[in-house]
Amino acid sequence: VHPVFENLPTTIFEEMSGLARELGAINLGQGFPDDAGPEPVRARAAEALMTGSNQYPPMRGLPELRRAVAQHYRLSQGLDLDESEITVTSGATEALAAAFFSLISPGDEVVLFQPLYDAYLPLIRRAGGVPRLVRLEPPHWRFDRAMLEAAFTPRTRMVVLNSPLNPAGTVVPDEDLALLAEFCVAHDAIAVCDEVWEAVTFDGRRHRSLMDLPGMRERTVKIGSAGKLFGMTGWKVGFLCAAPPLTRALAAAHQFLTFTTPPNLQAAVAWGLDHHRDWFTAMPAGLQASRDRLSAGLVAAGFAVLPSAGTYFLNIDLRASGLTLNDRDFCLRLVREHGVAAIPVSAFYAETPVQHIARLCFAKSDQTLDEAVARMARAR
Ligand code: PMP
Ligand code: GLN
Repeated sequence: VHPVFENLPTTIFEEMSGLARELGAINLGQGFPDDAGPEPVRARAAEALMTGSNQYPPMRGLPELRRAVAQHYRLSQGLDLDESEITVTSGATEALAAAFFSLISPGDEVVLFQPLYDAYLPLIRRAGGVPRLVRLEPPHWRFDRAMLEAAFTPRTRMVVLNSPLNPAGTVVPDEDLALLAEFCVAHDAIAVCDEVWEAVTFDGRRHRSLMDLPGMRERTVKIGSAGKLFGMTGWKVGFLCAAPPLTRALAAAHQFLTFTTPPNLQAAVAWGLDHHRDWFTAMPAGLQASRDRLSAGLVAAGFAVLPSAGTYFLNIDLRASGLTLNDRDFCLRLVREHGVAAIPVSAFYAETPVQHIARLCFAKSDQTLDEAVARMARAR
């Protein structure tokens, strides 16, 4: 076994979902909605499965989907992407792997922000990259100039940014994007932007891609996920968006990771992006109401709740809630004794973890959220 993967534990999401299944708990751990997803988009996938081709689609993705993705980002984020700059992948996870495997050479330094999504480090290390971690802390989870100065060196090849940020639920403000862009340009670094949560922002916020900042268009790899755009996390249709020289490298890696992605799902995502556009207003509005419901219930039950500006997640501050257990012990007790699964945020840190925050997924029915609150009130 390669040293990177030796003794690597099962992901926290699988661990907690496993416990929830085993114990019959309400699962507010792993992030996924508890509804079926938009019916017209699913109908399209079913139709394409029965009447369309089920053979290999083109390696870089169905032309109609690449065109629809470019058009979607034009409409929603004002980006001027050409369809030739889009590569369709099997989920954002494969897009991340393709970016790390094709753009990192052994010894290259990669700047990352903790808390970080669990797939990043093993893939970066397996590619030979050397992580340089910037540690973000609640309640604001922001970085500043001094933190970037400490992390960037002459060996910096890449920076990985996730905004909206899972698990913090923050949206990186424009001034922080500008600061990071300044460092990328000064160090001639590539930015890999994990924007899977771009469509899930609240209170009137509009997602801005780092790609949109001066000097970033040619050096940014923007990653999206149809699983998040349409709230069907099992679909595993992702997108890589990048200028042609980067796209050539990304596609070279993609062809040997998965080569392609099921054609009926690609066709349905293309249709949804073109024709189901009301969804992109209705979906975040519905999630915002769910966020507010869970947050109000938890506050009434005596929990200190951190603000959530995007994603499916909000966080509770255990310390500020008067609880003394660390996040992992709290989450284990919560699932075992009270029947609610949550995610300890320490799992998103590779070193010096923040250990007093637990993440809850609010992409659930009102009834499920209310029952979870009633159970959690007993864990106080
Ligand atoms: N990046 C982040 C930040 C995520 O939260 C997730 C999954 N929720 C992914 C990547 C993976 O996306 P996909 O399921 O499309 O592979
Ligand atoms: N992204 C999801 C989350 O944060 C989990 C994805 C996974 O299970 N790998 O909950």
